[in-house]
Amino acid sequence: MNVVLFGPPGCGKGTQAARLKDALGVPHVSTGDMFRDHLSRKTELGKQVEALLAAGKLVPDDVTNSMVEERLGRPDAAEGVLLDGYPRNVAQAETLDRLLGARGRAVDVVLAIHVEEDETVRRILKRGQDSGRADDLDEGTIRDRFATYLEQTEPCLAFYRESGKTVHEIDGIGTIDEITQRLREALGR
Ligand code: AMP
Repeated sequence: MNVVLFGPPGCGKGTQAARLKDALGVPHVSTGDMFRDHLSRKTELGKQVEALLAAGKLVPDDVTNSMVEERLGRPDAAEGVLLDGYPRNVAQAETLDRLLGARGRAVDVVLAIHVEEDETVRRILKRGQDSGRADDLDEGTIRDRFATYLEQTEPCLAFYRESGKTVHEIDGIGTIDEITQRLREALGR
């Protein structure tokens, strides 16, 4: 099963994906986590994307798409993936269709978690105190990331609807358990 989890930064996607991956039996593939792993290992890719991540700006599509292509080719992703943070714009969504299509697969389920802007800002500032993530510390950067979500990422939902897929809209306000339950109901798992 190939699942895409959408939602603005701070909506709880990462937390929820970590819980859902076992129920689905597929790996959690977070492009943000993959970039942060490159940063901490100081790889060439990490050096290339460091300033973009700190500023809350998107990494260029060619870089992101190649990283995802390589990830989808690994053995643990053969039966499906739970994508978190990818696709981030319609061009990436088209690439994902092509990458999965080449493997005889397609996006099966689209989930979109909704949380309003001020609540995400509150959550991310709180997370930043522990995570120390450069992009979690400054309110302006956090609001820019939310704006980028609205401008570039949310149009992916219309893209999937137009291609005939059901987008499951999930209210992201509640306890972590409640939201996991809502997502599991949408997934039928
Ligand atoms: P996230 O953990 O999903 O909030 O991602 C953290 C940062 O990684 C983003 O602000 C971007 O700089 C970068 N990033 C993650 N996923 C993508 C993507 N699909 N396309 C471009 N940049 C991304």
